[in-house]
Amino acid sequence: MSDTTTERVDAVVVGAGFSGLYMLKRLRDELGMTSRVFEAGDGVGGTWYWNRYPGARCDSESYVYCFSFDDDLLQEWNWSGKYPEQPEILQYLNHVADRFDLKSGISFNTRVTSAHYQDDDGRWLVETDQGDRVSAKYLITAIGCISTGQIPKIDGLDSFEGEWHHTGAWPHEGVEFGGKRVAVIGTGSSGVQSIPVIARECEHLTVFQRTPQYTIPAQHGTVDQAFLKEVKANYREILNEARVSAAGFPYDASETSALEVSDEERLETYERLWEKGGFHFMLGSYSDIALDRRANDTASEFIRGKIREIVDNPETAEKLLPRDHPFASKRALIDTNYFDTYNRDNVDLVDIRHFPIEEITPTGLRTADGAEYEVDIIVFATGYDAMTGTFFKMDIRGREGRELKDKWSDGPLTYLGLATAGFPNMFMITGPGSPSVLSNMPVSIEQHVEWISDFVDYNNEHGIEVAEADQAAEDEWVQHVNEIADQTMYMLADSWYLGANIPGKPRVFMPYAGGVGVYRERCDEIAAAGYEGFNLQESREPALAD
Ligand code: NAP
Repeated sequence: MSDTTTERVDAVVVGAGFSGLYMLKRLRDELGMTSRVFEAGDGVGGTWYWNRYPGARCDSESYVYCFSFDDDLLQEWNWSGKYPEQPEILQYLNHVADRFDLKSGISFNTRVTSAHYQDDDGRWLVETDQGDRVSAKYLITAIGCISTGQIPKIDGLDSFEGEWHHTGAWPHEGVEFGGKRVAVIGTGSSGVQSIPVIARECEHLTVFQRTPQYTIPAQHGTVDQAFLKEVKANYREILNEARVSAAGFPYDASETSALEVSDEERLETYERLWEKGGFHFMLGSYSDIALDRRANDTASEFIRGKIREIVDNPETAEKLLPRDHPFASKRALIDTNYFDTYNRDNVDLVDIRHFPIEEITPTGLRTADGAEYEVDIIVFATGYDAMTGTFFKMDIRGREGRELKDKWSDGPLTYLGLATAGFPNMFMITGPGSPSVLSNMPVSIEQHVEWISDFVDYNNEHGIEVAEADQAAEDEWVQHVNEIADQTMYMLADSWYLGANIPGKPRVFMPYAGGVGVYRERCDEIAAAGYEGFNLQESREPALAD
């Protein structure tokens, strides 16, 4: 399929966040290939371009939330905070894009509307909302895992006379909360980060909570300069450690069971890690918290004790106690002053587990018990159609016109989270079935980008025209992903990992819980074995660039 209005390139990359930027760099600077990179936003940054809500920042510590591919880049960039805040991450990604001259290779304000594999010439035909029509050998999705926001279907939203916003599509000019009555719906990562900041700015805040959450204090602050000096002196070593770790962090994971130590020792460990803050509590405490319910109970109960201690009003504290799921079975939350916020006079908590929001009225919200809440602004911190939603919005069709949406109707099916049978030459950066959201994302993104570009390089060298995941290899991988998930606490919560937040979405655990290091090893073995599990079809005419 080719005509004069169809541009021909080696690869189309969808998205210009961490993944798309690095993929472009690799394709262009290391493989010398042509590409089109399409990005819906008017700038680089992906999730950090869209998520500008108050308090937005990353839960990975800043020194490991970065690219590792360039030593000079590592040395020259200085984060100001212990955790990177959204404006600084966006600055960082712009710096990377400018430093490696990547923006010239990206078409901004352009959304891919369809990507159809053409059986006749074995290429992808990609179309955009700006009228682009591009034929590419490779289709590479760099669309993030959490990029299609979900606003619950609640009657009456159209009638609301105030302002409303989803945290993932925050206005670039900001939102003026001063003197306003605000409702925040949702208490996931976005909710627990934004609630304390909004509470300080607005006249009155009502938080609508469906599920109480475990959250660990970030213990945020400025970067410790002595620590940073040490990191910079050993950066390569530190990041190599992150690459082979369980979750993409260079921490020593505990090898001790929570059940083999005395109550006093366990309490002392939890207190120490609570003070240290962030993911250290989960990763550094005990080895079986994510695997053994009794071990997990000790951590869950410790956190419930903290909530009782922090929140002054016992009735409010009771409403905030998470009891229906184990700690870390949903995405672990990291906060600053979240529970303290409920001690403020201008903050109320409404439990909507039993009396959901029934209607949005012109002046506010009404819950099923008939209570009415008048507000000027509604903030939807209600999450995302994660991991598959953005794929489905794109109308991706593989061999014989088969829709990806149709193939994945009972849950995503992939080989390594990198490819899916029936969709040749399509690669997914941090796709479902890979560690992705269970890890420090830049570590997983770099691993995927490097693995994909090595594969593409291999194909170039060996004259491979079509590389497609083998059905049997995919089936085996899907089974492995499910078996690993079944051994964890993740199956015990209604989380977005399982699609449980989207009505009608199949309940399937989407990321790979086997660990970043183990996963990398498996990917490397597969590559070393000549891309085992892929069917490689040699071209009759090996020339690649058209
Ligand atoms: P989320 O974790 O899915 O939380 C959504 C919240 O909205 C939950 O409290 C959920 O309640 C509630 N909700 C959803 N639908 C609802 C409905 N119909 N009625 C009432 N409440 C409803 O979404 P998120 O907070 O945006 O976070 C998504 C993911 O993005 C995170 O898990 C994390 O991976 C990433 N993220 C990371 C950071 C960071 O690094 N700091 C910050 C933001 C986001 P239920 O719990 O009952 O479903």
